[in-house]
Amino acid sequence: MAVPDALATGGPEPRAGLEAEWQSPLYLDACEQLERAADLLTLDDEARIRLREPRRSLIVNFPVRMDDGSVEGFAGYRVQHTLTMGPTKGGIRYAPHVSLGECAALAMWMTWKCALLGLPYGGAKGGVRCDPRTLSATEIERVTRRYATEILPVLGPDRDIPAPDMGTGEREMAWLYDTYSQSVGHSVQQIVTGKPASLGGTAARRSSTGLGVVSALEGTLKRLGQTLANRTVVVQGFGNVGSVVCARLHKLGARVIGVSDVSGGVVNLGGIDVPSLIAWHAENEGVRGYPGADTTGAEEVLELPCEILVPAALERQIHAKNADRIRCRLVVEAANGPTTPAAEDILLDRGVLVVPDILANAGGVTVSYYEWVQGQQRHAWDAADIERRLDLQMQTAVERVAETAARLRVDWRSAALSVAIARVTEAGAMRGIYP
Ligand code: NAD
Repeated sequence: MAVPDALATGGPEPRAGLEAEWQSPLYLDACEQLERAADLLTLDDEARIRLREPRRSLIVNFPVRMDDGSVEGFAGYRVQHTLTMGPTKGGIRYAPHVSLGECAALAMWMTWKCALLGLPYGGAKGGVRCDPRTLSATEIERVTRRYATEILPVLGPDRDIPAPDMGTGEREMAWLYDTYSQSVGHSVQQIVTGKPASLGGTAARRSSTGLGVVSALEGTLKRLGQTLANRTVVVQGFGNVGSVVCARLHKLGARVIGVSDVSGGVVNLGGIDVPSLIAWHAENEGVRGYPGADTTGAEEVLELPCEILVPAALERQIHAKNADRIRCRLVVEAANGPTTPAAEDILLDRGVLVVPDILANAGGVTVSYYEWVQGQQRHAWDAADIERRLDLQMQTAVERVAETAARLRVDWRSAALSVAIARVTEAGAMRGIYP
């Protein structure tokens, strides 16, 4: 997009144009995956047009007063991919790389995830471009309340329901809940999920994505006639998702031999004692230097020979340049979009089974759905009930994907996308085109 002369001379650097925002690598990955699955389903142009671009994309720019009295400008987004399936649902990210294209890709994947798990939602995603580690708690509160106010016109408990994602958690959801409730004049518990328990948050929400990843892995191994006992596992990322995955795997008897995070990596081929790594991480804000394992680089951990690799950090971590150095038999995508389409082709050629993100990490939105239902019912389910329902729903989804893959003779991502896209397409066709 051309930059007007007046903006090109002097003043701060002009923002990248809208076209550049759409052309984000992640959105192009999501579109390529959609096209591949649409070809498999032989979808017509009408169906593709309805799915390719998000239905609503809101960009907001807003000023925030910083603690030192200065004012900073922030860019925020909320993208709703499809309105066909019910209200939209998706997380809110605070990260320096948040863009329109990133939110659009993640919103599309949320649609597929919800359709695959049979949840009555379309996908959404939003976020604020910022580095929350450089902001104080009071600054983050002002950013959150102002961002919430800016996107208020598209939110609602039956319209669009946010949840936490990278860089946000219960605290931010509590502020969002309060800001929305103040604006409508009464408490609306179902406006966000991932809330603190005292505000109607559900049991197991914080650990739900990680627990769901392990359920999906167990279901996959069951299909292969295997169990978790003594399997060697490498996990990239030790945050909300990665640390729960490690803890659960450790409890179920798998051997977690390598873990990495932004601080570096740790390796112990005999198996890491995960509870002590969690304690070390809490004290040292990273896994690096953990005395119960050898310290190495994050990249080396990703390429460590193992049976199961769980990327649980960022997107596009397995790409065309490192895919042939990934030495595992199974990749379980806990992160969103950790494998590029080109890398996946390389992995599949080498016989690696990839359990796709829209299946593997769907436990988070599934328990968010439980929280929303409990909010509607003004009723709390207990933790054991939630974990049992989650495990059942994840294992059922794995079965559906595995059967579809076998029937269509395709990889698991194509199978999962086919199930999801077919559901959304059928619903769209039944509703028709308005007016
Ligand atoms: P988080 O911010 O809690 O943790 C991210 C982890 O990745 C941290 O340990 C960080 O140190 C690590 N990391 C960052 N850069 C790295 C690098 N270069 N190498 C190795 N590690 C690195 O985030 P999270 O909530 O655990 O989310 C992780 C992924 O899971 C994201 O892709 C997110 O979209 C996805 N996801 C999360 C949820 C959820 O409920 N939190 C639900 C579905 C999907």
